[in-house]
Parts: sequence; structure tokens; C-alpha cells
Amino acid sequence: MRLKDKVAVITGSSRGIGREIAETFAREGCDMVINYYSDATSAAQIEKKIRDIGRSVLVIQADVTKRKDIQRLFFEAITHFGRIDILVNNAGINKRGFFTEITDEDWDMIMNVNLKGPFICCQEIFSYMKEQGSGRIINISSVAGQYHGPKTVHYAVSKAGLNSLTKVIARYGAPHNILVNAVAPGIILTDQTRDELSSVAGRNVIDMTLLKRPGNLEDVANTCILLASEEQNYITGQVISVSGGAYLG
Ligand code: NAP
Repeated sequence: MRLKDKVAVITGSSRGIGREIAETFAREGCDMVINYYSDATSAAQIEKKIRDIGRSVLVIQADVTKRKDIQRLFFEAITHFGRIDILVNNAGINKRGFFTEITDEDWDMIMNVNLKGPFICCQEIFSYMKEQGSGRIINISSVAGQYHGPKTVHYAVSKAGLNSLTKVIARYGAPHNILVNAVAPGIILTDQTRDELSSVAGRNVIDMTLLKRPGNLEDVANTCILLASEEQNYITGQVISVSGGAYLG
């Protein structure tokens, strides 16, 4: 029970990596807010799973790009649980496209969800964690932010920005015992990567990893446990790659 009686907010936890993080955190004794954007059915399924594990859970629809939504989310979370120990900025979207093909609308959409969303969430949670005198923030980045791939221009830039945001907020967090890190997964099988993994491009990405296979959801979730728990109290401002040695192969 490495997160016994902690409270976490996990954005975009109705599906994929966020959902796995939620379930893993619950098994470690954590209560939580499940956040979804459009998929209420999937959110209700994970809500039931968390309750079956025996943890307390609140499901809140909110768009991470809308400050008012995020203010409401944290307010409801604090009102219900009395504290928030862990924020996982997981909500994220991708849309592949070469440099010359990306429209202003594509650019704004990716930047808003992947970078502005975590910025708003960090800013809005900061005063709560500061008052508590502790907190953990985990930003779900991507190896794309370090590889700067040609087929995901805006996505790569958004994740590189998120890595930078992680380090900046770690500076602000340190005096208040708020530890801020990023986890950068390589290719993990989820709704976001299903098509890519069955394509030639996807197989090429796998070929470029040392371990020659996609990662599992648990690889990412277990790394988040380490960063969220008191198994360690000395990691901050870091981007931890969970990628099977991506781009070294
Ligand atoms: P996914 O299966 O497509 O799930 C995305 C989640 O984000 C869903 O719960 C979705 O909610 C939520 N979401 C989308 N837009 C939102 C918004 N505006 N406000 C709030 N929530 C929103 O994605 P995933 O593959 O699990 O990816 C999760 C994170 O890991 C992302 O940040 C992604 O960039 C990163 N990542 C993934 C991989 C990979 O291989 N899968 C690799 C590297 C990094 P609804 O379902 O309710 O719409």
C-alpha cells in the first residue's frame, strides 16, 4: 500500500494510460478523482472498478483547456476529500502530420490539450499543495518531446514544452516540498496508438527501440507509483523515459 489514504487527481483517466494509472493507484490504497472529457461510459466503468477495489472515487467531467472547468474540478475534489496529494497531468491527444500539412487549428488543438492544459492544472493546484506543504505532480510527456519526430511536429513540440514546464514548476515547488516530474513513455498500446502500431511507420518505431516491442500500460503506471509515493523523496525536475530504449536501437 504505497499510496495508502493519499488523494490523486488524474486527468484523462477514462481510458488508456490514465485509466491504468488510476487502477494501479487504487490498488496501492489511493482515493481519487477520475476526470474525463467525452467518454462518460468508460469513466463509469473505471469508477466501478475503483469502488470494487475499495477506494473512494469522484468522477468529474472537465476540459483541461478550460480554466473554469479545472477550477471547478479542484474545488469539488477539495470539498469532497479535503486534500489533493498527487496530480497526474495525463490528458493528451495526438494527430500525425508533416510540417507542411499542419493547420493553425491542428496546432492550437494539440498545444491547448497537451501543454496549456497541464499549465492550467499546475497553476490551479499550486496554492492547495503549497498550503498543505507537500505535493507530487507527474506530467505524462512522451519520447516524442526528446526525439523531435518529423511526423508529429506539433505533438513533439507540445511534449518538449511539457518537459520544460516540468522543470520550471519543479523550481517553484521545491521550497514547498512539491516534487514535479515527467514520465515520457515510448510507444504503448492504447486507443491513441492502435492504428500506428499496425502500420509500417509503427513497426519502424518498434525497430528503433532496444527492446523491440511496445511497452505495457503497467510500465508507465508503476513508474508513476514510484514518483507519487514516499519510496523516494529526492526526485524532482526530471523526465523519466519509459520507452524500452527508444531511438537507441
Ligand atoms: P487515449 O487512450 O487516447 O486517452 C486519452 C485520455 O485523455 C482520455 O481519457 C480522454 O478523455 C482524455 N482527454 C482528451 N482530451 C481531453 C481534454 N481536453 N480534457 C480532459 N481530458 C481529455 O490516450 P493514451 O494513449 O492513454 O495517452 C495518455 C497520455 O500519454 C497522453 O498525454 C499521451 O500523449 C501520452 N503518451 C501516450 C503514448 C502511447 O503510446 N499511448 C506514448 C507517449 C505518451 P475522453 O475519453 O473522455 O475523451
